[in-house]
Amino acid sequence: MKIETIAIHAGNHVDETSKAAIQPIVMATTFERNPEGGYDSGYSYSRAANPNRSALENVLAQLEGGAEAAAFSSGNAAGMSVFQALEPGTHIICPDDMYHGLRNQLKTLFKGILEFDFIDVNHAEILKAHIKPNTGLIWLETPSNPLLKITDIKMVAAIAAAQNIKVVCDNTFATPLCQRPLALGADLVMHSTTKYFGGHSDLMGGALITKETNEFWEKIRNVQTMGGAIPSPMDCYYLVRSIKTLPYRIKGHVHNAQLLAEYLENHDSVEEVLYPGLQSHPQYAIAKAQMTGYGAVLSFTLKAGEAEAKRVVNRVEIFTQATSLGGVESLIEHRASIEGPDTKTPFNLLRVSVGLEHIDDLIADLEQAMG
Ligand SMILES: *Cc1c(COP(=O)(O)O)cnc(C)c1O
Repeated sequence: MKIETIAIHAGNHVDETSKAAIQPIVMATTFERNPEGGYDSGYSYSRAANPNRSALENVLAQLEGGAEAAAFSSGNAAGMSVFQALEPGTHIICPDDMYHGLRNQLKTLFKGILEFDFIDVNHAEILKAHIKPNTGLIWLETPSNPLLKITDIKMVAAIAAAQNIKVVCDNTFATPLCQRPLALGADLVMHSTTKYFGGHSDLMGGALITKETNEFWEKIRNVQTMGGAIPSPMDCYYLVRSIKTLPYRIKGHVHNAQLLAEYLENHDSVEEVLYPGLQSHPQYAIAKAQMTGYGAVLSFTLKAGEAEAKRVVNRVEIFTQATSLGGVESLIEHRASIEGPDTKTPFNLLRVSVGLEHIDDLIADLEQAMG
């Protein structure tokens, strides 16, 4: 089946009892045992599994072409489950511009438990030089946040596989519509479903999808059900509902992002536009080879510097000055302000999450804000 069809059908089934065409929300925390003490439906207690979560996990696994998925209450909870599933003392290699929330998580919550290096993972020689006997995992995020750097997933996966190291790819910015990391050699995919999967800036969630079920995946499942950072049945329901339109939303987002990037690239006030769909992007060739669309987050720097960047975010009218991404509404933010003192993000940089408004209105809004 094609991805548009999977998005609509893989998370839904007609309810056996009521014949409701859309799967009902099962709020129950507990399920009745049969006389022998077993569970006829396979469900016993909702922390372990719930029908709405199973439906969500099913559609997520199929969208990424994986064997199974595990849904979490946030993207950070999903990421943390991977780190918790590693043996203490394991060394992990992460991108130097890893999503700041996960970078901070490693530095604070896993200090003294795991070893980590933040490096340029797209550089084969640098990557090989950092692999140690206890390296168990390479974390990727491509396109990255907020510099939109691209990592060659196949290249990293080949280096990792040769040394029995697992590769996890944070695919939040790309979504499976633009990039399928498992097909490119990654072992696990991570998502903040708060972003494009939810798509309406009104729910938080995270997910992991595995290429195959194995011992490491069993550990992650244990972290999910014993740790309990699971999404509510309501959140699972809303996610399954939103995912049905994901393929068409992404088409619209990507279309608008490309046009906005081209507009900005030709604007006199703009120093540089960072978007993998532009031929001027330093890794355009890798993006073109591994992506089927270039996502809808872009960053740009202003020639006039930080003060002007902060003025622009205060002058926009259609864009909302806010963090996050992936919703139908366009957002803009001064990224360095949110990332804190150890940020590597330039201070004249603005990050945009391109929404689904008409592109002419978005361009007109930035035109007046930068005018
Ligand atoms: C938002 C985000 C996360 C964290 O997800 P939450 O749902 O906010 O916990 C991780 N990685 C990327 C790339 C993100 O954009």
